[in-house]
Amino acid sequence: MDTSTRLPGHGLLSEGKPHEQGGTSGRYERIFTAPFEKSGHGACSCGEASPVLESDSARRKWHRAHKDEIRAAAGAEPAP
Ligand SMILES: [Zn+2]
Repeated sequence: MDTSTRLPGHGLLSEGKPHEQGGTSGRYERIFTAPFEKSGHGACSCGEASPVLESDSARRKWHRAHKDEIRAAAGAEPAP
């Protein structure tokens, strides 16, 4: 696993399972749908969310890029 790329305060919720934005709270919540339904937002524990993506792997990829952006903003090198 890519534990070396963990970033405090930025955890990918449900390991990249699809989420949708809740109606009243505005928070991203896990979608529990049929197993073949893969599209949804990826959600980070910091509150950021991806566009609607079609797979868990696409959402994990989004989260890696998201963490790289956070690191870049902090002046650190992106993960290799
Ligand atoms: Zn984040």
